[in-house]
Amino acid sequence: MILKIKCTECGTEGSLSLADPVYHGPYRCWKCRALFTIKIEDNQLKTCEPLTEEGLKQHEAELKKQQEIDALRAKFKRQ
Ligand SMILES: [Zn+2]
Repeated sequence: MILKIKCTECGTEGSLSLADPVYHGPYRCWKCRALFTIKIEDNQLKTCEPLTEEGLKQHEAELKKQQEIDALRAKFKRQ
């Protein structure tokens, strides 16, 4: 499903395609490049908070770490 998200900085409407009705993560405005952390529940935007580049890096690092843990788990499962 595609959700419309309005940038609180410039008012431009962007869209985000979602696989789940729940999402919590970063969103970047395609026009002004402003970063937000958004929270979606039941296909509705619940919160939209400004996010810094630093915060995004942290989020990506956490995501990468989780992927590495998942990969490691999958590896051990096979043995
Ligand atoms: Zn914007």
